[in-house]
Amino acid sequence: MTDTRTAWFDGNFQPLADVRLSPMDRGFLFADGIYEVTAVLDGKLVDSASHLARLERSAAALEIKLPLTIAEIEQIELELVARNGLTRGTVYIQLTRGAAERDFVAEPDKPTLLLFTQAADMLASPAVKNGARVITMPDIRWGRRDIKSVMLLAQVLAKRAAKEAGAQEAWLVQDGYVTEGASSTALIVTADGTLVTRPNSNAILPGCTRAAVLALAERDGVRLEERAFTVDEALAAREAMLTSASTFVISIVQIDDQQIGDGRPGPIALRLRELYLEMARGTN
Ligand code: PLP
Repeated sequence: MTDTRTAWFDGNFQPLADVRLSPMDRGFLFADGIYEVTAVLDGKLVDSASHLARLERSAAALEIKLPLTIAEIEQIELELVARNGLTRGTVYIQLTRGAAERDFVAEPDKPTLLLFTQAADMLASPAVKNGARVITMPDIRWGRRDIKSVMLLAQVLAKRAAKEAGAQEAWLVQDGYVTEGASSTALIVTADGTLVTRPNSNAILPGCTRAAVLALAERDGVRLEERAFTVDEALAAREAMLTSASTFVISIVQIDDQQIGDGRPGPIALRLRELYLEMARGTN
């Protein structure tokens, strides 16, 4: 079937198939750009303000000027969701420094902004019911992981290795400590029921879902500790889970060859998923 999706590019809504990016775009040549992914549930954007604030922060960190206001970008997202009749899936935003002669320090006339939607049924993935498996891998990424850069090669390699191993995610490890998942935040529940996740810093992407889930957990009376945890601690954890905009909260039932808990999704992960979905649907 032909792709009938509408995208937004360079000031216009247009068929995605008609978008003509320059081969000289610095996003393509240098990975000189940033992106955002926001979930769509029941046709509504989930946690939109948080994603748009991070888009603004990432752009500022790379000194790329957003060509539109945050409010205008949100309007385009909503219009794309409507035009594409999207009920469940994601909206993707990419901003690059623009197109110019290939030169490390070129300053293009204008940035490139592209938005498109992707349909996905995040509520029906097998990992929701059965839990996910993760493998651990060395974290070989650069030192500014707090910027949501399109430079995702390390993550692509990690995800490929995970897939090869029959796992759904790779947990990245530095100096014996888990930094985060290749495309998600990593959390564990210790034997005494404490939810542990790494504090925000340059070492990880400040997850929008992470922030929302920690607030919900706190409100629900879950004990929280923001600190780095080791792979050994994760292997011995009562529960493990991951959070991301496109998966919400997913329980982890296996890390490398080690079963976590009783091998089924844990109660805290399931509860946090339920609370997050209620929030996303505006019912709590
Ligand atoms: N960490 C990394 C490296 C990611 O790529 C992502 C999402 O893509 C996350 C964490 C989770 O962030 P969010 O919850 O904002 O989607």
